[in-house]
Amino acid sequence: MSMLHVDVAVIGGGVTGLASAMALAERGASVCVLEREGKTGRAASTHNSGVIHAGIYYPQGSLKARLCVEGRDRLYAFCERHHIPHARCGKLIIAGDDHEIEELHKLRGIAHGNGVTTVVEVDAAFIKSKEPNVRAIAALWSPDTGIVEAEELVKTLERRCRELDVAVVVGSPLIDAVLVAEHIELATPHERFTAATVVNAAGLYADDVSRMLGASIFQIYPCRGEYAELAPGRRSMVNGLVYPLPHASGAGLGVHLAKTTWGSVTLGPTIHYQERKDDYESDRLPLEDFVEPAQRLLPWVTLADLQPGGSGIRAKLHGPDQGFADFLIERDAKNPRVIQAAGIDSPGLTSCLAVGERVAGIWSGGRA
Ligand SMILES: Cc1cc2nc3c(=O)[nH]c(=O)nc-3n(C[C@H](O)[C@H](O)[C@H](O)COP(=O)(O)OP(=O)(O)OC[C@H]3O[C@@H](n4cnc5c(N)ncnc54)[C@H](O)[C@@H]3O)c2cc1C
Repeated sequence: MSMLHVDVAVIGGGVTGLASAMALAERGASVCVLEREGKTGRAASTHNSGVIHAGIYYPQGSLKARLCVEGRDRLYAFCERHHIPHARCGKLIIAGDDHEIEELHKLRGIAHGNGVTTVVEVDAAFIKSKEPNVRAIAALWSPDTGIVEAEELVKTLERRCRELDVAVVVGSPLIDAVLVAEHIELATPHERFTAATVVNAAGLYADDVSRMLGASIFQIYPCRGEYAELAPGRRSMVNGLVYPLPHASGAGLGVHLAKTTWGSVTLGPTIHYQERKDDYESDRLPLEDFVEPAQRLLPWVTLADLQPGGSGIRAKLHGPDQGFADFLIERDAKNPRVIQAAGIDSPGLTSCLAVGERVAGIWSGGRA
């Protein structure tokens, strides 16, 4: 049994936990990250669309709106500095008919309210110049949306953490926690740690971890998103990011096309709430179910143009009947030794560096 005392233990080695650990270490804290899997970033952090969101959609003043804009700028700069594959490729949000043009006006208003004033309405000629194979009568063009290679982002965050002397311990699930006067004792199957502060960045398991830490009770709802891909011979038919209008219910951004940094084109993600937090594969949607949503963006698509893609599971703080829940990033009211960084669904990849800064700010007292 080894024994380590740290200022801060971060539970979860996804982008939220790693970015938080990095920001904490940069402020002089001694930090360890506990990650249950054998590698960092195996959950949502590498099972996503890889889109750097501009900050268009979220309710004005929400953490999602603010941290997306701040995180986007931080992420572009971080990718430049550390040579992480990325592109500020821009994105189209398209309207197929006159009714949808009204919705585009509204969405542009929301984007501008969030400070994303580079979003403009464009006509069919502009759309054709960007995406000759897409069918639309008008669109919003967001030049500050982009893509990033999530695997490289995770690796770089982990490397930066290690350079800052953060102990990143993989294969080490938190299995028990005991509150002692001045700190929390944490147990994994292999180690015991003591920490003055614990950051809960456990993604899908943040509700279980919060309970273990004697902190607030909340529920994480696992919500699977599945992808198809364009067959390799069809990839050149899409140049960047093409989205429909978001679901009116607030359920998500809609099944969209995303050209990855390595040239494949994904179509998805779908939305399906499920019980299990670790089930990526059972009852996958048949490929046929992707044809109709694909044809709304690319009318020429047939089943033969598609192949199966991956899937990811969102850690949502709301069930299927509610439209929106914000990120939960705060000092816990029940156990103030815990800082929650939970409910980090989309745009959590984009926002990770801003989330990390916020967590570190709470720790150092700046934003408590
Ligand atoms: C389908 C899909 C598409 C998405 N697309 C985008 C996008 O295009 N752009 C965008 O900005 N965002 C996107 N997101 C959201 C983004 O991926 C997440 O917000 C982000 O990855 C969350 O990171 P995280 O570190 O909080 O969670 P995770 O990556 O899930 O990390 C949590 C970590 O905690 C570990 N853990 C859990 N329990 C324990 C324990 N007891 N002990 C130790 N470790 C534990 C897990 O193993 C895991 O590694 C998407 C998400 C999904 C699912």
